[in-house]
Amino acid sequence: MSIAHILIDRTEGTILDYEIPAALQGKVVVGSRVAVPLRRQEVFGTVLELRASSEFSNIKALSRILISEEAPLLSPQLMKLAEWMADYYVTPLHTVLRSLLPGSIREAKKKRKAKDELFFGETILPIPPPTLNSDQERVVNVIGEVLQKYHELAPKYAISGTDPFAFLLHGVTGSGKTEVYLRCIEKALALGRSALVLVPEIALTPQTVERFRGRFERVMGKKLIAVLHSHLSEGERHEEWLRLHRGEARIAIGARSAVFAPLQNLGLIIIDEEHEGSYKQEEAPRYHARDVAVMRAYLEKCPIILGSATPSIESFHNVQIKKYRLLELPHRADHQKMPLVRVLDLRLQARGKQADGVLSFPLRQAIAARLEKSEQTILFLNRRGFASSLFCQQCGYVCECPHCSLALTFHRTSNSLVCHLCGLTKKLLTQCPECREPVLLQRGMGTQRVEAAIQQAFPEARLARMDTDTMKGKGIYQKTLDRFRSRQIDILIGTQMIAKGLDFPNVTLVGIINADTSLQAPDFRAGERTFQLLTQVAGRAGRGDVEGEVMIQTYTPVSPSIQFARHHDYHGFFEQEIVLRKQFGYPPFQRMILVQLRGKIQERVAFSAAALRKELRQALPSTVDVGEAVPAPLERAHGQYRFHIALKGTSVKKMGGILRSLLRKTSFPSGVITTIDVDPQSLL
Ligand code: ADP
Ligand code: ZN
Repeated sequence: MSIAHILIDRTEGTILDYEIPAALQGKVVVGSRVAVPLRRQEVFGTVLELRASSEFSNIKALSRILISEEAPLLSPQLMKLAEWMADYYVTPLHTVLRSLLPGSIREAKKKRKAKDELFFGETILPIPPPTLNSDQERVVNVIGEVLQKYHELAPKYAISGTDPFAFLLHGVTGSGKTEVYLRCIEKALALGRSALVLVPEIALTPQTVERFRGRFERVMGKKLIAVLHSHLSEGERHEEWLRLHRGEARIAIGARSAVFAPLQNLGLIIIDEEHEGSYKQEEAPRYHARDVAVMRAYLEKCPIILGSATPSIESFHNVQIKKYRLLELPHRADHQKMPLVRVLDLRLQARGKQADGVLSFPLRQAIAARLEKSEQTILFLNRRGFASSLFCQQCGYVCECPHCSLALTFHRTSNSLVCHLCGLTKKLLTQCPECREPVLLQRGMGTQRVEAAIQQAFPEARLARMDTDTMKGKGIYQKTLDRFRSRQIDILIGTQMIAKGLDFPNVTLVGIINADTSLQAPDFRAGERTFQLLTQVAGRAGRGDVEGEVMIQTYTPVSPSIQFARHHDYHGFFEQEIVLRKQFGYPPFQRMILVQLRGKIQERVAFSAAALRKELRQALPSTVDVGEAVPAPLERAHGQYRFHIALKGTSVKKMGGILRSLLRKTSFPSGVITTIDVDPQSLL
């Protein structure tokens, strides 16, 4: 094997043959990163294959290996994973490979070790583990047996289709899922294996990460954990990556892209909050980290646990078709009660009692009662700013972003209008630009308005607001949570930033200001997302000894998402939702691929989309539903017009294959960009 087949960086996918010099024979393997001469320059590339000979004559020799380690930078399993992703997500292999390695590793930049800073405060106290309850014990035993079995059989063992290697851990909020993860990791470590843990967003789940650190930070004097988060400097990331690659760190915790963490001897993968939308990458390669993780577990021959209080419809469906195995934790750990949930009908409140348009009478009373007892309250509204739009009562004019088809949000703290998509900020208008009417009215509310109303209703209360506007400074998020924990704040107001992973024993009331905002999204998952959000937010209440109470304000109290969340009834929600999905041919019954075309000139995009749609209809079998080429729900973003063609069929692989070869043959007018989104999570 003296010839290497190399995918050259920055060439949009050129693959060339190079000879392996004698000194590097046996060291250059599939997955090695190497430097090669190309047109009198030195460029980098990834070794895809080794061959005995080349069909080309007088090929050059590669010059060196980029970072010389015992094992190639990309393990055989990660190379296979990359190939699978390229195929499944209809994305060029070079695009996939680029996201597999940190930039400094790809380019072998020399990095000085950055100071070893702990991200979440300096003191980590080892937490004595609780005794598992019987539900937890049952789950840990099942996983433990599978770990043991795979460990004994590996590496010869091949996972067959009927083997249970993927587990859906459905446990209500506070049921002790995290404790189960910790115990399973202990077992994997005891077998000499390593573990990968994915969390939706490191910054938003500090308590979860802290618990892992508390248990595993240093075991027998060795630093076992690598936490991969977005605040790492390039040098820190480089160092953490190498520690994992060398097998020094044996637990990796991180968000989406940590699914590619270079763990040696991987024995267990855990995806916490598997239903979370942030696992989907919205730029190329548009992968879903949960699905990639399941494929990685398959390739690494190890079990994977997908944990959630509100599993995605897709995952629970996979349990029903026996692709995943279900494990359940139906009760809160320590037998606390589930919080009592009340639904407050805003239509009734509007007829008189609602004083300020924010708080209904019962919610206001409930907050007052908490203040009296020195208990804490969380108020949730999934929209930042003060008012979601400004409009003119005379002529109907709405202040819109000139680059996006979106209304501008009024921010009172900065007295400006902001586009929540592209960030454009405008000075507040003092009159209608169309008809010169002097007063513009506000519609819809955001967290700033909630804060103002609470301030007015409870002048003595100590408030804090958490949304992307207030959390810009470094460390502010953590500081605010610390203040809330030490009860220096009575009422915490926030967006989805406060929905997950937080556990405050003194919070006995959670108020959802308006449950309808997410229900109205033009997306078949709107109901599912609302159910998940309400359940997650409600789960923040009553985590201590005092029973918690949740109040949901809504104009649509009969909506199934709200009613099932109110009764903590995941199964009920799933049963009614899955019927709708089947009836309308949505995932998981039909799989989707969304083709998007965008560009600055509307006619050009529209024309290209219509032409492509015609070609797709001809190329795809009649069993595939090819949607019309239509303007996207969000017609314009960042100054570009967007058109969609939705494909629905039973096999992503078949649709993707045909789509790929069609796009290879098609050329689009200049300025028209096409993107492919397989299993799209956002239809905007
Ligand atoms: P989840 O991840 O399902 O939301 P957690 O693992 O955070 O649940 O557990 C909720 C709370 O219960 C935490 O404070 C945790 O320390 C505690 N807990 C978990 N397991 C037990 C147990 N077996 N006995 C007592 N307390 C437990
Ligand atoms: Zn904009």
